[in-house]
Amino acid sequence: MVRIEIDHGRCVGNAMCVATAPRVFAHNENRQSTVVDPDGDPEGAVLEAAGNCPVSAIRVVDAETGRCLFPRADG
Ligand code: SF4
Repeated sequence: MVRIEIDHGRCVGNAMCVATAPRVFAHNENRQSTVVDPDGDPEGAVLEAAGNCPVSAIRVVDAETGRCLFPRADG
């Protein structure tokens, strides 16, 4: 289980995350990404979406341990 946070101060709405993990992310009425189901796609797809975000607006945390999965501390 992951928790996903999206920084709407950064999101530019290019939908990269929606394309990569379409069952997790969707645009809201402001064309900014929101999380519709954090477990909708495999965790790998969520991390790929976070890594592909051009403005690093997506943060992924392990919901049980609180450990940050993306961005990774070791780069
Ligand atoms: S990839 Fe990043 S900038 Fe693009 S819609 Fe998703 S969160 Fe926003």
